[in-house]
Amino acid sequence: MKVISFDLDGTLVDQEFNDLVWYHGIPELYSKKHDISLERARELVSGEYHKLGDQAVEWYDIKYWFRNFGLEGSYLELMNRFRDRVRVYPEVMDVLERLKEEYDLILTSNAAREFIAVEVGATGLEGYFTRVFSATSDFGQVKKTPEFYAEICKAVDISPQRMVHVGDHWEFDYLAPREIGITAFYLGRSGKKEGNFVLRDLRELEVRLNHIPELSTNGGEL
Ligand SMILES: [Mg+2]
Repeated sequence: MKVISFDLDGTLVDQEFNDLVWYHGIPELYSKKHDISLERARELVSGEYHKLGDQAVEWYDIKYWFRNFGLEGSYLELMNRFRDRVRVYPEVMDVLERLKEEYDLILTSNAAREFIAVEVGATGLEGYFTRVFSATSDFGQVKKTPEFYAEICKAVDISPQRMVHVGDHWEFDYLAPREIGITAFYLGRSGKKEGNFVLRDLRELEVRLNHIPELSTNGGEL
């Protein structure tokens, strides 16, 4: 068994949907509730996000913010309003289509489950993954730590040496999984970083996989 683990936001899907929900949808509801301008509402809402900070697990939880701001309506309704704005990067579907023939693909994100559900549902990504893990919803962690990756390996019943992870965060998608022996690739779509384990897009992942003998289909067992 060979498993490839993918980060979601910034790796498979771009940032627009998240930005629309947090910096447009929620401020808009807030502005209606308090009868203030959208601009002012955005300032106040952003201020509250900042005050709590992204080290708090609630920061990722849209239900928390609906309660906290006392917003009308449902968070699902809000997310669904922007559903058609979830965009996968251009090469993603083709690459996953090929990789799923040879590997078990899983999703390991620090986004909350509600966001993951809309993002994979709106794009058809859901058909490609055998397991989906949320660091915040499933493990109560805001970061993907080496321990988080160890839990994932345990959950999918594979040794870290038989797993590949790819994502766009240097620490949480590259350094952390490497620490426990996972073969990690850093996805830098801007192309600023270079190296054997740095990719500019996911097509490059396919090429690199063929150069890891123990992971390629032609290679032997470890
Ligand atoms: Mg990411």
